[in-house]
Amino acid sequence: MRHYSCDCCRRPIDTQIDVHHVLKIEVFPAVDDIADHGCCEAGGSQEDADHLEEMQDMLESLDDSDLASGLGDGARSMRFDLCDACRQRFVKNPLGVKSGKQLDFSNN
Ligand SMILES: [Zn+2]
Repeated sequence: MRHYSCDCCRRPIDTQIDVHHVLKIEVFPAVDDIADHGCCEAGGSQEDADHLEEMQDMLESLDDSDLASGLGDGARSMRFDLCDACRQRFVKNPLGVKSGKQLDFSNN
């Protein structure tokens, strides 16, 4: 049996009792080219499905190259183990922004 401890509050997670959550964060520079590639070609809905698959393949291959060489490019992939309490906290406030002050992401 594997033992985990919460990367947030350091409490051991007893997987018999607690739910063990895995948090994966990927940080990488946004590349607009990827969105442009392929989606402007004419085609019906079938094309879209193809593109989705294409996109997935591309993403998968991107992952590989990221692991190999992309890390120096500002790309990072992180993995954390979280207990249920910390997971709830994280979901509510993923970036740890102090509550009480709303960020104006929206243009309402
Ligand atoms: Zn925790």
